Amino acid sequence: MPENTIGGRVIVVGAGPAGLAAAERLASHGVAVTIHERMPNPARKFLLAGRGGLNLTHSEPLDAFLDRYGLARPHLEHALRAFSPDALRAWCEELGVPTFVGSSGRIFPKTMKASPVLRAWLRRLGEMGVQLQTRSRWLGWDANGGLRFETPDGLSTERPDAAIFALGGASWPRLGSDGSWQEAFASHGARIAPLRPANSGFHVAWSDTFRERFAGEPLKSAVFTFGDESLRGEAMITGDGIEGGAIYALSSRLRSAIDAHGEARLLIDLRPDASETALASRLADDAAKGLSAANRLRRAGLSPLAASLLRERMGGPGLPPSPAQLAAAIKACEVRLDGAADIGRAISTAGGIGWESLATDYSLRADPATFACGEMLDWEAPTGGYLLQACFATGRAAAEGVLKRLAATSP
Ligand SMILES: Cc1cc2nc3c(=O)[nH]c(=O)nc-3n(C[C@H](O)[C@H](O)[C@H](O)COP(=O)(O)OP(=O)(O)OC[C@H]3O[C@@H](n4cnc5c(N)ncnc54)[C@H](O)[C@@H]3O)c2cc1C
Repeated sequence: MPENTIGGRVIVVGAGPAGLAAAERLASHGVAVTIHERMPNPARKFLLAGRGGLNLTHSEPLDAFLDRYGLARPHLEHALRAFSPDALRAWCEELGVPTFVGSSGRIFPKTMKASPVLRAWLRRLGEMGVQLQTRSRWLGWDANGGLRFETPDGLSTERPDAAIFALGGASWPRLGSDGSWQEAFASHGARIAPLRPANSGFHVAWSDTFRERFAGEPLKSAVFTFGDESLRGEAMITGDGIEGGAIYALSSRLRSAIDAHGEARLLIDLRPDASETALASRLADDAAKGLSAANRLRRAGLSPLAASLLRERMGGPGLPPSPAQLAAAIKACEVRLDGAADIGRAISTAGGIGWESLATDYSLRADPATFACGEMLDWEAPTGGYLLQACFATGRAAAEGVLKRLAATSP
């Protein structure tokens, strides 16, 4: 039964987590909702996110959680407090999918995958009367403010009481979100901050030998430092650079440095559990025994990948002659990043509809019957569940905005 019937007819464009969350909130108040989705199936990126374990949200204290949104925190805070990580967890449990807190504090569904969550969610939306129109691509507004769609049956124009857009960012475009909404929104009075890769990899000019041998190999248990930020984690060598959890976590700062200086110098501690002094003394002992450089590095605890990375850093097969210099290079192996990887391969997107173009209820200042939410707004956050949490929370916040508008404008 609807919580509190308001009525009205609303279109949600985009069936990712933000659009589905908005639709659910609206339908719970008796609003007639149709979701238009360009792809043959909804929530493809959400399903992909579940492939490596769907990290729904994070269990850290809310204040620390909110800080992960950086400059966007003041804009997102209200929505995130209104639909908090605890609320998201409870929502998932109510759908019949229990959750758990992983060792890093991240929250996952027990099934790990997104498909059971999505199946139960779509079933619930169907029971609430939400219509889902797939293969229906929004093209823009017509001269009278109607929403134009391209469907298998031809072109159609819709004039709902309000519309919520949840069109996503521009990563993994083959899953449906490609950022092609930017021009229409810019002409509709929104300022768009350029879409940039977030939680992305970076280019590194590896030597051919290194690339051929190590592309696809993980660099495990290293400490990655950029500026005053250090974190322990893992990275993956790619054919043209480096990606993975530790790199994603530093990606916003690395991207800014590359924008400003054309490069960013990342320092990698290849043996974080050994002190520089202990390493230098071991290397000196082994040099005195006449061991080869390869053997000395192996006995110092470096994997073949770490040892080769060190040689890359030295620009060739030669290594620093002194054990102290070699130990210092192992503790701070510098890798020069000269560009961000393509946005198509990023986990998420920075940039989007600027906050100054949005009222606090997530409507466009230039058109109060048009609302926007999810990754198409100008915020970014690290991986760890922060992305989905903000998509859910802003989807629901936009729905609240619509509900208030409908209540105010209904006869
Ligand atoms: C590999 C990968 C792993 C991830 N893992 C996690 C994770 O574990 N935890 C986490 O928090 N986040 C994760 N994310 C990020 C998360 O999936 C996204 O932040 C989230 O899906 C964005 O939700 P959204 O609803 O804003 O947009 P989207 O999910 O991108 O949905 C937008 C929808 O709009 C549709 N659309 C676009 N244009 C049109 C149009 N013109 N007409 C009609 N429909 C249109 C698209 O087809 C799409 O279905 C991951 C992302 C990737 C790529």
